[in-house]
Amino acid sequence: MHPQGHRVQQYTQDLLQPWADSARRLGLKDIAFTDHDRYHAGIDFDEINRLRERNPDLRIRAGIELDNDPVHSSAGRKWIEKNWDKLDFVLGSVHFLERADQMFDSVPDGATQFEHKNIDEIYADYFRRVSEVIGTGLVDSLAHLDLIKIHGHRPAADIRALVNETLEIIHARNLAIELSTAGWRKPVKELYPSDSIIELAIEKGIPFTTASDAHSHVQLGENFTRLTDKMAEIGICQVCIFEKHKAVQVPLQL
Ligand SMILES: [Zn+2]
Ligand SMILES: [Zn+2]
Repeated sequence: MHPQGHRVQQYTQDLLQPWADSARRLGLKDIAFTDHDRYHAGIDFDEINRLRERNPDLRIRAGIELDNDPVHSSAGRKWIEKNWDKLDFVLGSVHFLERADQMFDSVPDGATQFEHKNIDEIYADYFRRVSEVIGTGLVDSLAHLDLIKIHGHRPAADIRALVNETLEIIHARNLAIELSTAGWRKPVKELYPSDSIIELAIEKGIPFTTASDAHSHVQLGENFTRLTDKMAEIGICQVCIFEKHKAVQVPLQL
């Protein structure tokens, strides 16, 4: 969940409580705040604790999403290192390719970064950047692992080896990957990650966290029923939850 959206907004009860209310309405009992690291100045652990006290029926995890922002992420990494013991959960992601001034997943503008480019090379570059984010050692789960498909660009080459290599690194480091319903609301209209990646991850025993990547409390839990059906269909019966960076698997409740 991204309570700050895409600007620095100080954590207050006014900002956070609507998220707890939405969760309760949806029957979600365990939620995690994962604002982008470039807005770390807004995160306030005392306010998260206060929210926990006011909503004892919910488990509220303190988290953050660390990406590869060439301008801001070094400060983000330092902040995460400093606050590691207060955080339950760090998502790792890649939002930047060659351009430092625009996230490639901006809709629709980011699609221009794919024009007149070799899509196979873009995919290889993207997954190399994913490995770099993993290499920071500050990540518990990978967010939207195949975000590179967002605008619908598909590689001509078989990317199985590329994906396999990335998943091997994820597995070796005991990390999880995220199932994100956000893909269904983007131009690609497909779950992140794709079925073939999920199947490879299952083979390797990689656990899955779940997300709607909500940037508004109204978006919270979007398409979770569809996600639950999908998980059951593909054979995932556990969800991974992090407490102080320790992974716990809980049974999927249908
Ligand atoms: Zn965002
Ligand atoms: Zn993201």
